[in-house]
Amino acid sequence: MKYRPGQLRQSFLRATLVLLALLLFVPAAAVVTRAQDDSPWKGGSPPPSQPRENPALDEQNIVERAMGAVCQERARDPLGSVPIDVMQARPSLALSHPDAVAGLKRAERLLPAARDLVVASLRDLSNEYNIEEYRIKAATMRVLAVSRIEPDVELRDNASVILSTPRTIYFGTIFLAGLQSDEGMISVLAHELTHIADGREDSLHPLFRLVGRRATTLTGMQIAGRRPEELTCDLVGAMVSRAYIERTPGKETLARRLARAIEHNCVEEDGTDEAHLSPRNTMRALLALDPTFGSDVMGDEKITFKLVEPPPPAPRKVAPRPRRVTPNTRGTTPRRRIRT
Ligand SMILES: [Zn+2]
Repeated sequence: MKYRPGQLRQSFLRATLVLLALLLFVPAAAVVTRAQDDSPWKGGSPPPSQPRENPALDEQNIVERAMGAVCQERARDPLGSVPIDVMQARPSLALSHPDAVAGLKRAERLLPAARDLVVASLRDLSNEYNIEEYRIKAATMRVLAVSRIEPDVELRDNASVILSTPRTIYFGTIFLAGLQSDEGMISVLAHELTHIADGREDSLHPLFRLVGRRATTLTGMQIAGRRPEELTCDLVGAMVSRAYIERTPGKETLARRLARAIEHNCVEEDGTDEAHLSPRNTMRALLALDPTFGSDVMGDEKITFKLVEPPPPAPRKVAPRPRRVTPNTRGTTPRRRIRT
């Protein structure tokens, strides 16, 4: 079965089109861009300067407010996801632990929906970013072939995929237990499925590059190297979680359910490595890429904006953090041993 949340995608596309329109009229000199620009969009004259209705500071504050709303929802939510840094500090969890078993059952139950919704989200993004059809077809085939969740004690608070076993998502038991809602779980499943969708051929790298470039333009953050891929995986995760919410209406508020898609990033210790934005900067980038997400979590009117000031840089660690760099224990492609 192939589910296509048409209404959701239309609203997302509308929000995106508004954002694109705004991008065309932002004073070029005000955009802080520090990342390497290797996208095919080069040349041309900068667009003419246009007066802005809202100061950049307000726009940045909107993102910070939205982050605060997400994390407040998490704190009040009985099914709130455990923040990554809290997960990391926990002792290993046995395969047989009831919370890990419950998490595995949740992941297995949600995998079919996650596959379908990832395919639909990648289709939307390919239309939005003008990605070639053959790339999306190949990505779709790989996503639909994923059929197994394998719990792994050693992976702890990580999930990962390996190119040589492209039908399996490996899930640390701490992570399985820490994602207590369907919305949180399906977001992480979608993240991993997007890595698999890229495959050995790097089918989605043009998409990753363009998403990263847009996020850099919106936030001023440096998003280069492997970070565009990780950010795009998180973006698909947020899109899929929203689509799942529309597919499964319930009594809980939209704000609470939406927050679950990204609230595992509500960390106190906001460190990172070379492959990922820090958890909080990941939230900043996602909320900038999808302003509707933030306005829905805050219960505000729909917001469209353009950020021109970079957020404070995340503290960088000299040594990779164990949770971010998983040993290549299976002797396969190490770059796919990726933290969600
Ligand atoms: Zn990842």
